[in-house]
Amino acid sequence: MPELPEVETTRRGIEPHCLGRRIIHAVVHDPRLRWPVRSDLPEWLHDRHIIRVDRRSKYLLIEFENNERLLIHLGMSGSLRLVDPGTPRRKHDHIEIAFDSGRVLRYHDPRRFGALLTDHVNNPHERLANLGPEPLGPEFTPEYLHQKIKNRKTAIKPLLMNAEIVVGVGNIYANEALFLAGIHPAMPANECSPALAERLVAVIKDVLTRAIEQGGTTLRDFVREDGQPGYFKQTLNVYDRADQPCRICSTPIQKNIQAQRATYFCPVCQNNADLPA
Ligand SMILES: [Zn+2]
Repeated sequence: MPELPEVETTRRGIEPHCLGRRIIHAVVHDPRLRWPVRSDLPEWLHDRHIIRVDRRSKYLLIEFENNERLLIHLGMSGSLRLVDPGTPRRKHDHIEIAFDSGRVLRYHDPRRFGALLTDHVNNPHERLANLGPEPLGPEFTPEYLHQKIKNRKTAIKPLLMNAEIVVGVGNIYANEALFLAGIHPAMPANECSPALAERLVAVIKDVLTRAIEQGGTTLRDFVREDGQPGYFKQTLNVYDRADQPCRICSTPIQKNIQAQRATYFCPVCQNNADLPA
């Protein structure tokens, strides 16, 4: 599933091809995504001029000169590709948007859990309401995180994945950040000291930044202009490594299920023995 780094990598990949461009043509081959694509999308997009390519949480926001926006969510299996006109359509290429540059942006989504929605900057879509701060933004500080979790008795890991606390920390990165911070995923959140919150915020920003720099970990289909895949598999410490040796201490990585999601951790490196008080 594309996580925040893959979405940000996609944003950076498409931005140079979209910015300043005018849409000359759009086609919806299949509107049956997570929510139906608006039936007048081709007319709605026609002749619009793109002034910004942004991201909020895992939504790509393509903004036009009247401040209306096209929201794109990649769901479980969505991806965007830039192709030349006449490139044969692949199965599951559901939507195409042609620019005045001659390039075509194609939305591909085999499982169709993604979405294309529209809104206005001054009246954001309800899917963007009640979201916590961006993990890489200035609002996500140790003081903020500590304030949000200090009275919660629930386990720390599901709280990090709660979009009302902070957006974009998906399962892979929650597992990796807790390993890097030396925190057991089941630690009650109210045991997190201000000093530990500082460590946690730092590792979350670090793991996401490195993933973005490396092009995300799960992106398979975004193709850069030169045709090379826009991702490189990041070295993960714990995620999807059950029973394999910890890269620090060689203890087998353990797996369990927390809040319906797979949790991976090292029982030695994450035993909470040397956490700052
Ligand atoms: Zn270890």
